[in-house]
Amino acid sequence: MKKSNRADRLAVSKTQKMGEKNWMNKVVFFTDIAKLPDGLSYFSLESFAGKKVPVKLHMGEENNPYFVKPELVKDVVKQLKKAHANPFLFDTTVAYHGSRYTKAEYQNLAQLHGFTRKKVGCDVIIDDTGVPTIVEGRTYEVADHLKHATHIFALSHVKGHIQSGMGGAIKNFGMGGVTKETKIKIHDSSYPVYQKDACTYCGVCAEVCPFDAIKVDEESWEYNEQKCFGCGACVDACPSKALSFQDADLQFLLACSAKACVQRKNRAVSE
Ligand code: SF4
Ligand code: SF4
Repeated sequence: MKKSNRADRLAVSKTQKMGEKNWMNKVVFFTDIAKLPDGLSYFSLESFAGKKVPVKLHMGEENNPYFVKPELVKDVVKQLKKAHANPFLFDTTVAYHGSRYTKAEYQNLAQLHGFTRKKVGCDVIIDDTGVPTIVEGRTYEVADHLKHATHIFALSHVKGHIQSGMGGAIKNFGMGGVTKETKIKIHDSSYPVYQKDACTYCGVCAEVCPFDAIKVDEESWEYNEQKCFGCGACVDACPSKALSFQDADLQFLLACSAKACVQRKNRAVSE
């Protein structure tokens, strides 16, 4: 359907912008991603003035075209600078071997994808050090640059995700804002624990496992940890409660980890 004006395209009204006191904590849906930089005028970015602002984003996987493109990021950076903020792009290294495993590897990939100072107008920082932060009784190592920032900006590409269902801003921080050690801990915590006494060998867990990590026959239950991704599907599906998590559901841990990254901050979030 053709949108009639700028406000329609941004799916937000001026009345909301001007009238609501806690505007920074509201959820706003942009219907046209290209209008995002323009739409930042709807946020009260004045409080970002003079602040170092990490723009938290995923700068893409090798041979995968789905990431927020540097051209759009450049415009967001421009808007933040217009608000007299001092933005820099930020992400952490990942826990699996590949092109984002070390800082050097990730910097190379970021450059290849166009995330350079010249193209986006600000520094690009990759880090893997963190500060222990407790949420709901568990410790998450929040990346130094996020922990020490008073203002942060999330730029997340939304995607279907085999473990978290939908990956967006919460995953951008919950997994992407913490150290390798915390990433591994979150994954390990959601692996299944089997209780033989309760098992009826119904085979439901094997049916739902997307990675063929479980095999069940009439009197045996086999689990291959090498194949398991800790998605939790088998735990949720077991009708006899014979499976439980090592510690807790991945989605819960991601939410807590994201909270550790963003708590007590001023934030502008976009997806
Ligand atoms: S779903 Fe539960 S009860 Fe059925 S085979 Fe798997 S572990 Fe056993
Ligand atoms: S946690 Fe997911 S990947 Fe692992 S065995 Fe269960 S269903 Fe399969």
